[in-house]
Amino acid sequence: MTSLRLFNTWTRQVTPFTTRRPGEVGFYSCGPTVYNYAHIGNLRTYVFADLVRRVLRAEGYDVRHVMNITDVGHLTSDADTGEDKMEKGARQQGRTAWEIADFYTAAFKHDLARLEILEPTIWCKATDHIPQMIETVRQIEANGHTYRTSDGIYFDTATQPEYGQLARLDIAGQQAGARVAVNEEKRNPQDFALWKFSTPEEARQMEWESPWGRGFPGWHIECSAMAAEYLGVPFDLHSGGVDHIPVHHTNEIAQTLAASGQLLADWWIHGEFLVLKDKRMGKSEGNFLTLQTLVDAGHAPMAYRYLTYTAHYRSHLTYSEEAMDAASSALRNIHKQFAALPADPGAAPNDRLMARFRDTLRDDLNAPQALAVVWETLRDATVPTPVRRATLLAMDEVLPLGLSHVEASVESSGPPPEVEALLHRRLEARASKDWKASDAIRGEIAALGWEVRDTPQGQVATPAGQ
Ligand code: AMP
Ligand code: ZN
Repeated sequence: MTSLRLFNTWTRQVTPFTTRRPGEVGFYSCGPTVYNYAHIGNLRTYVFADLVRRVLRAEGYDVRHVMNITDVGHLTSDADTGEDKMEKGARQQGRTAWEIADFYTAAFKHDLARLEILEPTIWCKATDHIPQMIETVRQIEANGHTYRTSDGIYFDTATQPEYGQLARLDIAGQQAGARVAVNEEKRNPQDFALWKFSTPEEARQMEWESPWGRGFPGWHIECSAMAAEYLGVPFDLHSGGVDHIPVHHTNEIAQTLAASGQLLADWWIHGEFLVLKDKRMGKSEGNFLTLQTLVDAGHAPMAYRYLTYTAHYRSHLTYSEEAMDAASSALRNIHKQFAALPADPGAAPNDRLMARFRDTLRDDLNAPQALAVVWETLRDATVPTPVRRATLLAMDEVLPLGLSHVEASVESSGPPPEVEALLHRRLEARASKDWKASDAIRGEIAALGWEVRDTPQGQVATPAGQ
């Protein structure tokens, strides 16, 4: 039904997007671990997921979007060692793990709203789905893919020939080159915890009874269980950041295959990282900027969203203060030019510009090019100004730039950008005493419905007939 083409990490190719049910998309996005604020790198990934969602909507799909909130089980190493990030956050901040989760979940939702990211159709908290996780682990166990160690129930990756396919993992190579195992009891370096046992010395705040003993779920099992609960498997589309390819998503796939014999999802899409001058930005690296940091420095939250459009989602985006300043001034400029376009409720978007805009996004979400079409639309003198306004508002539904909140301003009854451009050219012509050119430009200005007069204060443009 569409010519949308996407890069699928599973096939490593850009191919036409397809769904299991016509016109419907089941979409799962791995959500935040709520032990701290989201940093702007995380937010890049959520803006990317939102762009996908909006493009699908514009293509006529009904999208059922599920996002989890990881409020237990994500350990500091991303693997199976270290402390639970939630429990550590609680200890450091002198609050309970539950309070920490609620606080940072609210902060996360506030960031999404400020970036005009649509809320998922369904939010799901890991701690609300412990029975589903236990059931999934039971199925994996019944199908012979688990073993027990002193600290938990582990997935035995050697029992699954398909393991690692998403990331094209070279299991044999990794096995040979594996460093001394952190966990001596693990059979293979890639094996991962499905359920971890509480230990007396830990005194966990978040723990549950299970058939294997008191403890808590592994991070990966959360997504396998909740995705199956709300979307069924296989579903259509799964998103996350590129760091999830080799471990988290690889393990989600392994678990679901082991539990149900099904692949988790047909399409896998991954957003590349936001980097700081060649460094990775991470909560654990201790060098992270939040949306609020940018706001405190005087930027509008949507200026950050603008910045994310300047790189394709499969490329690194390098953050710098200069790039952020440039994004802010570009967005201000767009808002100013947009405000100058008169509103006319009867005006419909321009088909030609909308088609070009849509085509850029259908081409594996080429946001930088879509942004270029927005700029062209602002300035396209062949299109009447109220139509330009209507076109930009339609584009804003897919590639938000905060335009729906920009009023047609009163002072904006000044000349539109293309008349401004002509006035500027006329000024230059007059400065070089090129009267012929100056008159020709006056004619062009008149053709756009504006009259220019030369006064002691300089040239003044007014709408023709006023
Ligand atoms: P976390 O809260 O650590 O689970 O991460 C939330 C999301 O942000 C995941 O989809 C990660 O892949 C993604 N992510 C983490 N760091 C970055 C970064 N520097 N740039 C873009 N995405 C990131
Ligand atoms: Zn996940």
